[in-house]
Parts: sequence; C-alpha cells; structure tokens
Amino acid sequence: MAYDDSNVFARILRGEIPCNKVYEDEHSLAFHDINPQAPIHILVIPKGQYVSIVDFTAKATEIEIAALFRAVTKVAEIAGVTDEGWRLLANIGINGGQEVPHLHIHVFGGRKLGPMLTRS
Ligand code: 5GP
Repeated sequence: MAYDDSNVFARILRGEIPCNKVYEDEHSLAFHDINPQAPIHILVIPKGQYVSIVDFTAKATEIEIAALFRAVTKVAEIAGVTDEGWRLLANIGINGGQEVPHLHIHVFGGRKLGPMLTRS
C-alpha cells in the first residue's frame, strides 16, 4: 500500500491540524487520542511516512525504529503509568481495524484494561 500523505496524522505532522502533544523528538511525535478509550490513550507516531508496522520495519532505519519504541516507553513514563502497568497496541490493515494509514502505536493506561480481545 502506497503512503497517502493526506491522512490525518500526516496533516498533524505538517501542522495543518492541531494535536495535544505529549512528547516529541527528532523521529517521533506523541499526542492524545481525540476519542480516548481509556483514561490514558496516547498515539505515538514516527515522523517518517510509513503506512504500518510492516512498512516501517521494512523501510525505516534502525535509528527510527529504536526511536519509536523508546518514545513509546517514554510516553508511558510521562503519563505516569509505568509502575501500574499499561498496554501498547498497533492495528494493521483491514482485519486489524486500522483507520489511519500512518503507523501509530496506541498507549493505553490509567485503569485495569481487561482482556486483550473480546471473543466473537
Ligand atoms: P486506528 O483505528 O487507525 O488504529 O486508530 C486511529 C486512532 O486515531 C483512533 O483511536 C482515533 O480516535 C484517532 N484519531 C483520528 N483522528 C484523529 C485526530 O484528528 N486527532 C487525534 N488526536 N486522534 C485522531
């Protein structure tokens, strides 16, 4: 899947629409989800143009990959959930339920998060 730079996170990265920023470094940006599913719900994205974790691991540099995962754990620290526990999640493609085609890692916390998936 080719990267479409009209997606909402590309627009946030370009400063065309605002976000509630939590953390930023040279390679990554983190901001609060607009529709939180838990008391803490933060999205961590690479600044590079990657559709998904598949695209990212295939094309990103080792520095970008390390930066993203370090940003995720940094965000958990900033949010104050490191000791009590939290969850990270990345949706991929249609079956994964990915809505925005720019890689994003969800960081959830602030309450007991329950089972990983509901059975259906
Ligand atoms: P996905 O389903 O692709 O894994 O998750 C996309 C997430 O992006 C959803 O949780 C949704 O609430 C969030 N989202 C969509 N549009 C915006 C936006 O304009 N700003 C922010 N902060 N989050 C957004």
